[in-house]
Amino acid sequence: MMSKVLIIGGSFAGLTAARELCQDFQVTLVDLKEYYEYTPGILRAMVDPNAYPSISVKYADISQSMGFDFIKGEVIELSSHSAEIQNAQGIVMTTFDYCIIACGTDYYDPIKPHRTYEDLSNERHETIIETHDEIEEAQSIMILGAGIVGVELAGELVSKFHDKNITLYSAQDVIMPGMPKLAQKYAENFLTEKGVKIVYNKKASEEEFKDFDLVFKCIGVIYNTKFLQKNFQENLNDRGKIVVNDFLQVKEHIFAAGDVAQTTLNLAGTAYAAEQMGKLLAKNIRAIASGSRLREMGTLPMLYCVSLGPEFGVTVYQNLVIPGSCQAFVKFFIQYTKVKELENPMFNLMWKGLDFAAEALSHFF
Ligand SMILES: Cc1cc2nc3c(=O)[nH]c(=O)nc-3n(C[C@H](O)[C@H](O)[C@H](O)COP(=O)(O)OP(=O)(O)OC[C@H]3O[C@@H](n4cnc5c(N)ncnc54)[C@H](O)[C@@H]3O)c2cc1C
Repeated sequence: MMSKVLIIGGSFAGLTAARELCQDFQVTLVDLKEYYEYTPGILRAMVDPNAYPSISVKYADISQSMGFDFIKGEVIELSSHSAEIQNAQGIVMTTFDYCIIACGTDYYDPIKPHRTYEDLSNERHETIIETHDEIEEAQSIMILGAGIVGVELAGELVSKFHDKNITLYSAQDVIMPGMPKLAQKYAENFLTEKGVKIVYNKKASEEEFKDFDLVFKCIGVIYNTKFLQKNFQENLNDRGKIVVNDFLQVKEHIFAAGDVAQTTLNLAGTAYAAEQMGKLLAKNIRAIASGSRLREMGTLPMLYCVSLGPEFGVTVYQNLVIPGSCQAFVKFFIQYTKVKELENPMFNLMWKGLDFAAEALSHFF
């Protein structure tokens, strides 16, 4: 009989692990939504809601093509070999031999789905349409937070709507802190030339929100780890992230990956890192099952493509900063092929090659 793997969360980390494991294990994936959403594409969908269907796929379809069981529901408690899941029928219990916690983060509305009312894809699409309508009606828009999400949102808004007053608030003296200076400069020039006002070194107060017709909060994240508080409190750090060892283990047979995992290497919270962690822990589950040696998570190359509207972008790869309209195409290419990869194994083969090349070339830059 095949060993059972329970995966909590069906995004970059969880789906990557599911794909790698479901031929040799009985994999069950639980997500509180009925659909996968390609998070990096959501800001474009907010200004162009017709783009939404292309970034959302029902888990029922993905589970068929990949070959795992899907449960729509919220894991509300995890124990050492079982999980309690709240779904439409009430509370159900499922057991496992191995568990992968890939439950990621929550973000302010409407950037990530709101768990109580957007667990169906049509409800989520309606929210995105409503957001678009609010943007269209607003004259003045505040974006609070100038990390990559805030900057990309400013880029989308200013590229689509030319007549709005858009103000981007940064709590620091730069935008996109942590990115190379050159990338910050390209993004800053792009936005200011198009008329975005950037306010530096300022944390805007609730009082200041009233000066704007619409406010988008692009700050902070909440780690989705409430369901671990009862039995795994000692594995959570003070921010609520799950502390894992070099093999991504929480316990011998319980692993965590993606944004929610606090690795010893302090890996960045990116889709790329989440996928690489998903791949590694799939290898490690196989290793435990076959009695072979576990592998450690290694460092990853810095790789990020920041889009600034549909026609411009900046790609950062290690020390290289590549701006231009080609980068907007790169971002589109990544999105298109990543969503297709969920149902078509050819795209997965292509990405295996690209990931290998990205890793190998990183030693030269
Ligand atoms: C607007 C935006 C743009 C971004 N753009 C980029 C980009 O261009 N490139 C890049 O590399 N990164 C980007 N990121 C970061 C990237 O999206 C994250 O690093 C990535 O999504 C992390 O994936 P994950 O698998 O860890 O979890 P998440 O994507 O956070 O998904 C977690 C999943 O778990 C489910 N879940 C949560 N709790 C439970 C529970 N209790 N029970 C059942 N299911 C649960 C959720 O429904 C969700 O499907 C962006 C992030 C945002 C917000």
